[in-house]
Amino acid sequence: MNGKDLVFLDNAASTQKPKSVLERINNFYSSQYANIHRSAYTLAENATQEYENTRKKVQNFINANDVNEIIFTKGTTDSLNLLSYSLGKYMIKEGDEIVISAMEHHANIVPWQIICEDKKAKLKVIPINSNGELILDNINEIITEKTKIVSIVHISNSLGTINPIKEIIELAHSQGAYVIIDAAQSIQHKKIDVQELDCDFFVFSAHKLYGPTGVGVIYGKKELLEKMPPYQTGGEMIAKVTFEKTTFNVLPYKFEAGTPNIAGVIGFGAAIDYISKIGIDVIDKVESELLDYAHQKLTQIEGLRVIGTAKNKASVLSFLIDGIHPTDLGTMANAYGIAMRVGHHCTQPLMDFFEIPGTCRASFAFYNTKEEIDILFDALNRIKKLLG
Ligand code: PLP
Repeated sequence: MNGKDLVFLDNAASTQKPKSVLERINNFYSSQYANIHRSAYTLAENATQEYENTRKKVQNFINANDVNEIIFTKGTTDSLNLLSYSLGKYMIKEGDEIVISAMEHHANIVPWQIICEDKKAKLKVIPINSNGELILDNINEIITEKTKIVSIVHISNSLGTINPIKEIIELAHSQGAYVIIDAAQSIQHKKIDVQELDCDFFVFSAHKLYGPTGVGVIYGKKELLEKMPPYQTGGEMIAKVTFEKTTFNVLPYKFEAGTPNIAGVIGFGAAIDYISKIGIDVIDKVESELLDYAHQKLTQIEGLRVIGTAKNKASVLSFLIDGIHPTDLGTMANAYGIAMRVGHHCTQPLMDFFEIPGTCRASFAFYNTKEEIDILFDALNRIKKLLG
């Protein structure tokens, strides 16, 4: 990359794809391709089987109780839009309250703003401290009997903070609210057991978990999904259509209108196999070591300020260097072959809280190395000499 070996440190945005995922997609399109469901021929039956196998893999991966609690979407954003629309229609009334946090991704802010506006409900925000940790001291004033939904990020994409979601889930349930966990940044780092967490909904994207783009997941408790109205309508999600009335399909198909991303879902199955073989615990351990190393190394640079210094963090390191705009830092780092994200990371209110335009973000996956962090360290020192 630009005459150097690529150092890919943008894994929070999306991960690179293992060969097994690419080969699975290629094989499927090359020799097994057909549309799924509703067919009498073997090619389509096999494709359906493969698609549904991924649903089982996802069920096992997050320990859902029932395979029909797994709904395929286009990604986390799509999952959150589905939930806000459907739950909004099903249960939000004037005067109700929805709670999010100050460190949410725009995908977990904007859909709720729209529902609140439509329904004359109120959006409340759990504040954070200067380390980028949730302030839960007055949580009983934020999550109350008026709260109907708490939608909260598990791990912050901008700060790396790991939130105490188990505690928040218990608190919300004690007030009768449903809880949605935005796991876009946790599914690839942490072992997840949705039954143990007892969350009502849990959403994530395949592309951050070494799978293809255009595929996401909603886990939802069956008894809730059954009561919720469909989001998109059309083929597949129906039981019977007449011009007078339509009845809807059973779970999970009620929420999967139209031809889905069949090859993407099948490729995602290969990604889950790949991750399961390595072991998420192993991945977590390697990434924690990388984060510690990067933190210890980069903080040696004078004038470097880490944004997000929570006690409990995943492998995301956001930083600024005094006197250098983050965009200049990222652009210059690119000349050294380093791929890092710069900007507000779709968390503008969080940037406003820290009174900064954005950050430079290095995010690590288990395939990164300490040598790559050394390259980043050297590059930042050179950039600092040039621009600082
Ligand atoms: N939530 C968080 C915490 C994220 O980090 C992201 C993406 O970066 C999203 C939601 C949206 O995910 P997607 O773009 O895959 O829909």
